[in-house]
Amino acid sequence: MVKSIVVIILLLTLNFSSFEDKIPDYLKENEKVVNVDFFNVYGKSFNIEGSFEDGGNVIDLNLVLEGEVKYSFPLKYKIENGKINYQLNKNINEGINLEEITPGTYQVILEIFHSDTPVKASLVNANDVADVEYYTFNNDGLSNKIVTISKDKSFFLSVVEGVTPNNVFDIVIDPGHGGSDTGPVIDGYAEKDFNLKYALDLEVKLSALGYKVKLTRYDNEVNIPTYGLNSRVGMPYETKAKIFLSLHFNNIVSEQRFYGTEIYAAPNLNLDFAKKLADNIVEYGNGSYSPSQFSKVMNGVYVRNFKSYQIDEFRKMFDEKNTPFYESISTSTPYYFVIRETGGLMTGAYVDGRDDRYDENPYYRSNIAAEAYLIEYAYMSDPSDLNKIINNMDGFNKGVIESIINY
Ligand SMILES: [Zn+2]
Repeated sequence: MVKSIVVIILLLTLNFSSFEDKIPDYLKENEKVVNVDFFNVYGKSFNIEGSFEDGGNVIDLNLVLEGEVKYSFPLKYKIENGKINYQLNKNINEGINLEEITPGTYQVILEIFHSDTPVKASLVNANDVADVEYYTFNNDGLSNKIVTISKDKSFFLSVVEGVTPNNVFDIVIDPGHGGSDTGPVIDGYAEKDFNLKYALDLEVKLSALGYKVKLTRYDNEVNIPTYGLNSRVGMPYETKAKIFLSLHFNNIVSEQRFYGTEIYAAPNLNLDFAKKLADNIVEYGNGSYSPSQFSKVMNGVYVRNFKSYQIDEFRKMFDEKNTPFYESISTSTPYYFVIRETGGLMTGAYVDGRDDRYDENPYYRSNIAAEAYLIEYAYMSDPSDLNKIINNMDGFNKGVIESIINY
């Protein structure tokens, strides 16, 4: 009897608690101070990189979270003329998994090893990137809120438990096209209809598993904006989502037969999750891997970047309008906007308003973003695939759901 009363009181307390950032009232200043040039969160992964001078012979370098619990992560580093460039991970979806950091306040420091005893160094944010605010996956209405605090000669992670705010979501699903943009229409079937049907099905099933899911559109007759507030690109940022999936069905007019699944991702990723998506969609949907070799990395996994001829044509268009061309675009810039513009600085987002064909993406300089994938489940233009698209939705979507559960 007493026990149940205690539980009720605890629940009430939790329900009314909000996420208050605990800014530590102490600064543990270390003798050495090291610059952080960039830090970011992509999906659930925190990454950091920077450089510092060091006259000694560095034999090891760790990033350490010092709190009640201590976490230690080996850093990759290169030494050039006494300058050390360090990085946690070159893949933006690897690094520190923020889902695994227990609540508390952690000073983020470097341990520089010249011998068995390390020199401890404080970190200072040397760039103009802002602090990040991350919410762990929703669990029975609760999340951990993680913020970085970069002030003076100290860099902290604050992890606080609380109720998941209403406007925070785990997964944003984007049913491609919509409204007058129908996508291809084949045998009376429009792509936008399939996209919405599959997205609604995923929403129901993922919500039943406890994930907070939001779709970029619920209405099939409305054209939603690409950029800006409440837009296709804006929504994953605004909801602080960890995963963003853009759903599509392929179409091609060609002599060669095209069919099967293609998963598109940014180039600087560990592609294990993309591979899982492809494998599971093919397996559970009774589908097949696409035979397309264009931008193919592995069976079912594709990384499509700008080609140099496309950049040249793009630049020419800007020259003719006397508008300075984007400096950041290269052959490692993702081609699809749903992947590039949803990933902020990490995926080379560039839509800053100078191109008068598009509205500005207000988040193009963000250092926190959802991990984005474009799913081409199958080809509507292939009769055998179209039959599966109509009849195998449960299987195709089981592939997506199994991938997410095991991620
Ligand atoms: Zn499409």
